[in-house]
Amino acid sequence: MASPSAELAQSILESLGLWRLPVDPFEVAKREGIFLAEDDYPDGFDARIEHFPNGNKFGIFYASAGGWRTSGRVRFSIGHELGHYYLPEHRTIIRSGKNHNSESDYSSRNPMEQQADDFSADLLMPMPLFRDELNFFRNGFCTLEDLGRLAERLGTSLTSTARRYCEADREPCTIFFSKSGLMHWGRASEDMRLKGMYWCENNMPPPAGSKTAELWAKVAAGEPVDKLEGRVAADVWFKWPKADYLWEETMPLGGTGRVITQLTPDD
Ligand SMILES: [Zn+2]
Repeated sequence: MASPSAELAQSILESLGLWRLPVDPFEVAKREGIFLAEDDYPDGFDARIEHFPNGNKFGIFYASAGGWRTSGRVRFSIGHELGHYYLPEHRTIIRSGKNHNSESDYSSRNPMEQQADDFSADLLMPMPLFRDELNFFRNGFCTLEDLGRLAERLGTSLTSTARRYCEADREPCTIFFSKSGLMHWGRASEDMRLKGMYWCENNMPPPAGSKTAELWAKVAAGEPVDKLEGRVAADVWFKWPKADYLWEETMPLGGTGRVITQLTPDD
């Protein structure tokens, strides 16, 4: 069953005549009469929505794409701000003048930020359309490279696309993100949850013997790092896995200081 956030996003896209992929969040904002103010803001700033009581207008301030900030990431941030605009409790808070600089793309643990991230994924990658796209794009397992190409097609960030792919339950797949050498968060398909291969303790180093640990060791040694992949015993990652081996792919997310890891059964 679709979540309330997914139902809201679908009804908005349908009423605006935009129920198709790729979804352009700038077009959604424009149709709502929200003004968009783009600038080269300092590095720590992604985006912020504000309400202007004079004229009852909303505006979104956002940092331009460039360097590590991909256009997919910027569009995800716009979707996040639209979450603050459309989700009723969020809009009440924004209208009351309580503004915040958003931390989008699943980097925040604040529930309101997480709701806005979920809304952004529901708006930019509505599940029914996303599943159709997967049938068309690649009927089978998507590697990290495939997910990168899919993100480009959809104009979304690799982070949110990889997460959506796990949620689509198309193939058994778990993804983890690590930051500064420590595990940060993860997402698993239903299949992987049933096989006991979905959980990893946050704020701990990646398990010894994993490709992800090998990658972070290279980072620490100042060695150039690209993608690493290979077969690893499933119990390297999980305590009681219902598989013997996993295929692990891992690579840095260019310039963000984060690393993505994809795990899939390889028996
Ligand atoms: Zn926010």
